Amino acid sequence: MKMKVVQCWDDGVVNDIRLTDLLRKHGAKATFNLNPGLMDPEKRGTPGWVKQGVGTNNHNFGFACGKLCHRDIPEVYQGFKLASHCWRHQNAGTIPDSEWIKAAMDARKFVEDIVQEPCPGFAWPCGVFTQGTIDLLRENGFAYGRTTKTTFDVTDCPEPLAISPNCHFKAPDFWQRYAKAKEVGAFYFWGHSYELFRYDEMWDSFESMIKYISDDPDAEWADVIDIVPMLKKGTGNGE
Ligand SMILES: [Zn+2]
Repeated sequence: MKMKVVQCWDDGVVNDIRLTDLLRKHGAKATFNLNPGLMDPEKRGTPGWVKQGVGTNNHNFGFACGKLCHRDIPEVYQGFKLASHCWRHQNAGTIPDSEWIKAAMDARKFVEDIVQEPCPGFAWPCGVFTQGTIDLLRENGFAYGRTTKTTFDVTDCPEPLAISPNCHFKAPDFWQRYAKAKEVGAFYFWGHSYELFRYDEMWDSFESMIKYISDDPDAEWADVIDIVPMLKKGTGNGE
């Protein structure tokens, strides 16, 4: 059986235009986790260096990601899956749970209205989750929630609403994890396209990763939702 390779990308940023073009070119599937409340209805943001090398978080290193706008969504993400990443990227536990689940649901309804299909996926803003918010996602019909932890066995998952991907796309041991994942039949990586900045060399090296996976006879692209039926209640200590 071929290994299912799935990927998801967070925050709905301008670099997703280049990313989705690249993924289409190589026949790769992907899910995009959006925060519609941080996107302007009409006006696209502008990516670029604000303060190079000085990270305002662990990922952007001072690069302003530049958000896509609502009008961009249907065309940029045509053919890909969309999922909720909370209306305005609200971290679980920082606001009352009743407000938080509304933020998770509002983003989901927004993308479902656009694509006219169920979007039961979720990615935890900043990887933060609580038992209470896990329970609320379940009650509201979400199928999975991606954390930012890592695992060697993505199917060893006691709680699909707090699923650990195998790794971030820039993980130094990406290919070791990829090879090891063949033993269990699923590999899940994630990232933000702004982490490729506007460096053509980084984009080229990323493209070679995608091409390698597309060409791998032991692997096939799948959507994140496709691996949910493969999850089994293990120890969750796949690492
Ligand atoms: Zn995010």
